[in-house]
Amino acid sequence: MAVKRFIPKKFAVRRAPFAVVIQARPMPAQIIDGKKIASQVEAEVRDALARLPYKPGLVAVRVGNDPASEVYVRNKARKARELGIEGDELVFDASMTEANLLAEVRRLNSDNNVDGILVQLPLPKQIDSKKVIEAIDPAKDVDGFHPINVGLLHLGRPALVPCTPAGILRLIASTGNSIAGARAVVIGRSDIVGKPVAALLLQQNATVTICHSRTRDLASVVREGDIVVAAIGKPRFVTAGMIKPAAIVIDVGINRVDEKLVGDVDFERVREIASWITPVPGGVGPMTIAMLMNNTVTAARMRRR
Ligand code: NAP
Repeated sequence: MAVKRFIPKKFAVRRAPFAVVIQARPMPAQIIDGKKIASQVEAEVRDALARLPYKPGLVAVRVGNDPASEVYVRNKARKARELGIEGDELVFDASMTEANLLAEVRRLNSDNNVDGILVQLPLPKQIDSKKVIEAIDPAKDVDGFHPINVGLLHLGRPALVPCTPAGILRLIASTGNSIAGARAVVIGRSDIVGKPVAALLLQQNATVTICHSRTRDLASVVREGDIVVAAIGKPRFVTAGMIKPAAIVIDVGINRVDEKLVGDVDFERVREIASWITPVPGGVGPMTIAMLMNNTVTAARMRRR
């Protein structure tokens, strides 16, 4: 039988607001708006361009007709022209030989009007993409993939930094939270996202852990993160149970599920735990091209000073 306790009237009144507090759900995380922050970066690029006595040149090279690459390259060249960069798209047949592509890269290296060169990956199988990336003049390597730029990044020296990781740091900074001293957990160790993001977070004095497919008890490691960057390529892999309350969660993943784009994070549930979160689409994605434009201006300034 339930025991009904007597509560004097004055206590009953005082308990009411307390009960409300207990039942209230925590505020859902604030959304980090990648489109808005990307357009701020573009405005900065426009300002920087207005102060240059020349128009920097960016050349995007595509070999073959992979439909995704076609869209990426076209968008990059179009955005460059829209901002006032000399944006060019070079398209070659899928049967192009490695020797011919290397010769093309060397030609662009010696063209003084070209400040940035990017070769869209993946390349057809007959071409070794490592050789091609290593052939690009590091001073024009706006993707930041050349071993010289990778080395400089890990030494903490000025370098052309890969665009997606640079964009991620910008998104984290936009929350106004300090990176210094924070525990940051990066899930994924690819050369294009995981490793460079970790290096940038370390440069900003975060305590960084990199996780990968061999990490033991991944959930408990990720739960230590004040900042979590998910770059895995598995839809909704990061669940609410892996997230520390009030963490900042950056979702890099782009996965197609039932004709819809979803990230590596279970957005709806993680949003109830985190303090800030990026959506997919509209989070990290829009930053990549904006940071490429920024890198082109940086490359031009460093090379032509
Ligand atoms: P990737 O080269 O395939 O690397 C995936 C990483 O995830 C690897 O390090 C892998 O570990 C790790 N991983 C896989 N399964 C795991 C598991 N069960 N537990 C823990 N770690 C696991 O991918 P990526 O190129 O970095 O890209 C990651 C995602 O970001 C993809 O969805 C991609 O489309 C997206 N992306 C988006 C942008 C953008 O602009 N928004 C740019 C680049 C990439 P191992 O190393 O041990 O195999």
